[in-house]
Amino acid sequence: MEDLFNRKINYLRLSVTDRCNMRCIYCMPEDGIHNKLSHSDVLSVEEAVEIVRQAAKCGITKVRLTGGEPLVHKGILSICSEISAIPEIKELCLTTNGVLLKKMAKDLKDAGVDRLNISIDTLQEDKYAKITRIGTLKNTLEGIAAAEEAGFKNIKLNVVLMGGINDDEIADLVNLTIDHDWEIRFIELMPLGECINWDKGAFISIDEVLKRCPGLKPVKTDGVAAIYKLDGAKGSVGLISPISHSFCSNCNRIRVTADGRLKPCLHSKDEIHLKGMTGDILKNEIIKGINSKPMEHTLKETKSQSLRNMNRIGG
Ligand code: SAM
Ligand code: SF4
Repeated sequence: MEDLFNRKINYLRLSVTDRCNMRCIYCMPEDGIHNKLSHSDVLSVEEAVEIVRQAAKCGITKVRLTGGEPLVHKGILSICSEISAIPEIKELCLTTNGVLLKKMAKDLKDAGVDRLNISIDTLQEDKYAKITRIGTLKNTLEGIAAAEEAGFKNIKLNVVLMGGINDDEIADLVNLTIDHDWEIRFIELMPLGECINWDKGAFISIDEVLKRCPGLKPVKTDGVAAIYKLDGAKGSVGLISPISHSFCSNCNRIRVTADGRLKPCLHSKDEIHLKGMTGDILKNEIIKGINSKPMEHTLKETKSQSLRNMNRIGG
């Protein structure tokens, strides 16, 4: 359906858990989640699927499962297979840190997941350990290989661009696209949660990628990403700039948090309670959520107004 600003809303990002097996410095506190959601606060498998079923009746055709880390959810395969069986859902995607992909990639494919985004902010083992605090680059690289073996195509690799931390690797990351059909997605660091008060120098514009890799040629826009390519490369580079070039006029999404709150906008504190609802009552709340999407966020002038860390929203 269309929202009040004539945007067609067809994309739902559903966070299935706030838990994670990593502690990325910009996303989660070092000692884990404060005020952890209790089991009964988190959407059950049935509640998550019912939300998608009713959202599908409101025009949602694409779903992304995220978190926290969606692969630590014990019911993730059931959630995937039930959502992929909903006729209106044409595309089921999942965003993961890749750690558990080595053992789960094939099962995810069999459960109907169409596409994967895998987060990898650096190609250097020691830096990977520092950024994720408890992860190893080797696990994530093995996860990417397992995903390819399981038949996932056009894998997107998410890189959060951080000045002074991984901007020295822009060219190395872009060069990965020469031999792999991956899309390397550079995402501007957003000032919310753990990094809300970071030094200004960390928040660099996505334009830095084009400055450092002048061989990148524009190809198209794909939703919120501007897509570029190096001549002759198998893969591509996606630039996502929520801060320097706001893409609110193209926003086609709603988000639902692991505790079942619909967020009409990532950066707003407004939330609509969906947990425990079913049928038409749930559908009407989803419609209310779509109709309350703001025209744009105010990130340029202020910090994010969202009161949650990213693992709590589902990035
Ligand atoms: N755990 C999974 C992962 O890391 O891919 C899925 C959840 S994570 C919250 C989703 C994405 O949000 C990741 O690519 C992560 O790097 C990104 N993210 C987290 N905090 C962010 C921030 N402050 N600004 C921009 N992206 C952020
Ligand atoms: Fe976990 Fe993803 Fe947040 Fe990293 S970005 S702490 S992997 S939820």
